[in-house]
Amino acid sequence: MSSRTLLFLEDDKDLQSLVGTFLREKGYRVEPARSAAEAQAVLARVPVDAAIVDGLLPGMTGADFIRELRKTQPKLPILFASAFWKDLKSHELLTRQLGVVRIIHKPYKPEELLVWVNQLFPAPALPPPPPPEALEEAEEVNVEVDDLAASLAALNAEYGARLKEKVAALEALLVRGRGGDAAALEEAYTVVHKLHGTAGSYGFAEVSIRAGQLEAVLLPARAGAPVDVAALDASFRTLAAAASVPVKPAAAPPQSSEGVLLVVDEDAKLLAEAERMGRQVGVGVVTARTADAACEVARRQWVDGVLVHLDLGGPLGGLAVAHALRAEESLPVLPLAVTGARDVLEERVAAAHAGASLFLPRPFTARDFSAAAERMVAARRPERARVMVVDDDPDAIAALTQALASDQIEVVGLSDAHGLMEALAQHRPDLLLLDVQMPGPSGFDLCRILRSTPEWQELPVLLITAHLGLEFRLAAFQAGADDYLSKPVLREELRARVQARLERTRLSRERAERDGLTGLLLRRPFLDGLRARLAESRRQGKPLALCFLDVDHFKQVNDRYGHLAGDRVLMWLGRLLGARFRREDVRGRWGGEEFVVGLLGESAGSASEILARTAAELSDMTFDGDTGEPFHVTFSAGIAVSPGDGDTVESLLRTADARLLRAKENGRNRIEA
Ligand code: GH3
Ligand code: MG
Ligand code: MG
Repeated sequence: MSSRTLLFLEDDKDLQSLVGTFLREKGYRVEPARSAAEAQAVLARVPVDAAIVDGLLPGMTGADFIRELRKTQPKLPILFASAFWKDLKSHELLTRQLGVVRIIHKPYKPEELLVWVNQLFPAPALPPPPPPEALEEAEEVNVEVDDLAASLAALNAEYGARLKEKVAALEALLVRGRGGDAAALEEAYTVVHKLHGTAGSYGFAEVSIRAGQLEAVLLPARAGAPVDVAALDASFRTLAAAASVPVKPAAAPPQSSEGVLLVVDEDAKLLAEAERMGRQVGVGVVTARTADAACEVARRQWVDGVLVHLDLGGPLGGLAVAHALRAEESLPVLPLAVTGARDVLEERVAAAHAGASLFLPRPFTARDFSAAAERMVAARRPERARVMVVDDDPDAIAALTQALASDQIEVVGLSDAHGLMEALAQHRPDLLLLDVQMPGPSGFDLCRILRSTPEWQELPVLLITAHLGLEFRLAAFQAGADDYLSKPVLREELRARVQARLERTRLSRERAERDGLTGLLLRRPFLDGLRARLAESRRQGKPLALCFLDVDHFKQVNDRYGHLAGDRVLMWLGRLLGARFRREDVRGRWGGEEFVVGLLGESAGSASEILARTAAELSDMTFDGDTGEPFHVTFSAGIAVSPGDGDTVESLLRTADARLLRAKENGRNRIEA
């Protein structure tokens, strides 16, 4: 084997000898140089296949040296070792202008350097030993990954084809095992264990589950206990049955349609009509006839919005559906529209208080229906998690996008990593998927850069690599990645990992933004939300009502009924405020027993009426004191409306607060606007 010659320019003697020895052991010829002059001497003496250049040399920078070198060696592959984190600008200079293949950050491990050196050459000087996982799964992962999606399908099909053989082999092992062959039993266990762990990833979820059950039956036998033959037979049969079911090709990812609307009405004919309109305008329609059924549907599947008929049966009519949906803590706050025959103010206020963003008069046309759906989908869109995929291969971006994009996840692709910072600022993703190997900055580099940028320090990063080796995994975590995936990326695994990360991020953000007792926004996030609504109200030329609420005589509540009872009052008021109003309205706990609500599009009059309903609901509640004594509470409120009362958050807060004071002075349990 012809061995490659590397120029290794590094002024630190210790590093020079450590890395030199390591690379020589791996089959490279290493020509050391400790200065630019020595390096020139080497180059004059022998042809080299690649150069490793230190960033800081005696008397000059590595970049200057490379610029010189390029005059005579425009094509020489160069790895650049730097003790400083390179920002993207330096990356660009080095990789684009000076043609550096890769920047390696010090301190690096010789193994990491070797990885990059090996990659400079199509056939490595010495093939690195296969990592343990590769050995274990060697029979399964043998597809070249060019087109991720195609290889995925091929992998799945191939695995499926071999599944029956695996099961037949397993049966033979079990027969021998039952006859007392301990080795066969052990081998059977290994096969079952692998099936359990792997089949699901290939789309054979049922096989995985059944294999898991068989594994549980075999487990005691490994420890020497007698085999439960009946259970063994039964488990094997269900496994074999599951494996013999031809598997449908993996379900296509949900196409992002115009959204999904839940329509609630008692009248089956009207529901059928809504479904027909949905098909006409490309809106998915699911239906329910009662409040309970509506909650059931919303729990089960993604819904963009709910359209409720106001005149449903029961004392509250359709509003009961709205209340039920908002009362469920496990459900997201869905955009709500109501439909009714009469568009009278009283119903409109009731609907707004219950949380309806939209009133759709009956009868409505397919076009009205489509417009309503569009507004609701748009309202939910900002909640969709955004994943950014950075990969130099557009096909890989397409494949990953296809695997991930859904109603809940929006994917943005970026094929030039140099534009990462701008792209992050523009799209503000919730998660980043980084390819490790890219021309220019590698996924490791990008990850390190992000970790040293305050704004993106917390951004979850998943690295994708073609390698399974230990050194890659270590490097991934050292670079600050949260997780890694290896190619070929299995669709299910990708989705599962991404979703788990997104969910955790969402939860921790919620925790940071919300008050634990009431579940409402804390002061700062509330103000952010209010500012956004104010800007929106200006754009749309609509008013914005800011309400300041303060519980009356709350100190006395604490004194008479106990602090815990006081806490319960705050918790229930928080829940009430959280459950009422439209989803685009902002609610926060200002502090203590003071709350704030911003109602978009409401005037002083309508905001007062909406709030009066909340006040009535609160005063109807009976609380228990810490000693069991029942009591009631009320609140007072002040309302300021932009633009009339001011057009900044500060001026609105000041005015609302002054009116709240007036409400207190005028006897409490009242609203001043
Ligand atoms: P007013 O009608 O004028 O608003 O009278 P008030 O007693 O409600 O007003 P004041 O501001 O004098 O008292 C508010 C009380 O709220 C004082 C404080 O101990 C209590 N408080 C603040 N935060 C909490 C909390 O989280 N839990 C409980 N139980 N009490 C709280
Ligand atoms: Mg008070
Ligand atoms: Mg107070």
